[in-house]
Amino acid sequence: MKNYSIWQDFKTNVKCSKINKDLYVDVLIVGGGITGISILNELKENNVSTLLIEQNKCGYGVTSRSTAKITYLQEKIYMNIRKYSLDKANLYLKSQIEAVNKIKNNILNNNIECDFKQADSYLVTVNKNKVKDIKEEYEFLKNNNVNVEIINDKNIKMGIKVSDTYVFHPLKYIEFFKNKYQDIIYENSKLNSFKRENDYYICQVNNHTIKAKYLVIATHYPYFLIPFLTPFKSHIETSFIGAKKVNKYVNQSLINIDKPTVSYRFHEDKNSYFIYLENSLKSANIKNIKNYFDNLKRKDNFQYIWSNKDIITNDYLPWIGNISNNLLIATGFNTWGISNSALASMVIRDIILNEENPYIELVNPKRSINLSKIKRLPIDISCSAIAYLKSTINNVNNTHIKYEQINNNKVAHLNYNKDILVKHRCPHMKCGLVFNEVENTWDCLCHGSKFDLTGKLLEGPSKENINVDKY
Ligand SMILES: Cc1cc2nc3c(=O)[nH]c(=O)nc-3n(C[C@H](O)[C@H](O)[C@H](O)COP(=O)(O)OP(=O)(O)OC[C@H]3O[C@@H](n4cnc5c(N)ncnc54)[C@H](O)[C@@H]3O)c2cc1C
Repeated sequence: MKNYSIWQDFKTNVKCSKINKDLYVDVLIVGGGITGISILNELKENNVSTLLIEQNKCGYGVTSRSTAKITYLQEKIYMNIRKYSLDKANLYLKSQIEAVNKIKNNILNNNIECDFKQADSYLVTVNKNKVKDIKEEYEFLKNNNVNVEIINDKNIKMGIKVSDTYVFHPLKYIEFFKNKYQDIIYENSKLNSFKRENDYYICQVNNHTIKAKYLVIATHYPYFLIPFLTPFKSHIETSFIGAKKVNKYVNQSLINIDKPTVSYRFHEDKNSYFIYLENSLKSANIKNIKNYFDNLKRKDNFQYIWSNKDIITNDYLPWIGNISNNLLIATGFNTWGISNSALASMVIRDIILNEENPYIELVNPKRSINLSKIKRLPIDISCSAIAYLKSTINNVNNTHIKYEQINNNKVAHLNYNKDILVKHRCPHMKCGLVFNEVENTWDCLCHGSKFDLTGKLLEGPSKENINVDKY
């Protein structure tokens, strides 16, 4: 069994160079996941001078562990947004349909070979108390002129289906753009810091400087703290996923609105695969990561198992746009970042080109929120607090790990084939790290940083490795 995602078996043929000189550009995009790459394409198609830097390899962050459905039927997101604004729910639906079509057109117009396939999207419940929620979602979609059908099946209490939705291979999609923009993408090139000077951003990337008029942060969780993006306005959600070979591709993808979350899709390249996700839960509530993987293994004979995490905002809308003086971000995708990366590309394009766009206010990261209507606010606050407190005491249930004091610094000592010493806290905000013995990583349950066994940073918001050579 492989303890990484099915997409990560894809090997890129396009090598982008590491930054090797100082540069000047109008727009610098930081992060080569689907968000950064989509924004790059949109800006280049509009002749904007742009560069993209990626600290590792493009696509191998959160994007490479997604289920990669291209759909606007996103669990009960419209129901959630509707609770505080019907207008916003209507507009968000419109934005997602446009975003799905944007990706489809990108693929068809460029003949991108990325295993793109039509797949009906189903939203279902097996719980009779939730039937009314699905009915409401059905009415909402109907009122917005969506072609939605009710599904009758003896295995569910109620379900609905839309058909203008798709699936694809996210890394093959990214590969096309890497190839197209190879000369303006720098891999293994990390933004270490930036400052604003005379209307420009001066960015330290490895040992070089890039000067840019606009800085677009597409790093999933930005490493720097910005007032609106406090841990109290969001939480991290983790899910567990498996994939196995099957005899044939079925054009169905499904998600439920019950607990635990179940979601699946099929994939076809030379072979056909079934991709199954279960248990989307607040990272703060995870007691023992291995148990969730064990549950998954008991379900089926998966050839791949992996986990993934995303940022859930407390009003269920993404954060895309200007946060100050031409500093833009695109994140907070509520586990629907494939379609939202296309939305981000259109919104950020129009902000930079000073064009109108109907969604700029909807996703404005500085939007004001009526906190009394955000039922999740207390939950988000307590989740952040629980994740922090729980992790500070390092109650890790693993006999291979012990904590030691070296030169006044506490470190985690992992006796795992060989001795490994790492910092026991994430350099980002000093949350304690938990060892994920299935994927062989050190995970921060507060903000999602991930480090490999030896302490090398895989994913931020941390900027640093955690190996303890320094001590
Ligand atoms: C379990 C799960 C299933 C999902 N399934 C779906 C789905 O079916 N459909 C859907 O629409 N969405 C889905 N999503 C959501 C979607 O996968 C993500 O929202 C999306 O992939 C995020 O992409 P990104 O480009 O913003 O982040 P990433 O892919 O993480 O890219 C960010 C990049 O920035 C780089 N970076 C970070 N810091 C720096 C730095 N300092 N300098 C340079 N580079 C840096 C990182 O190395 C990384 O490559 C799912 C999410 C989860 C958790």
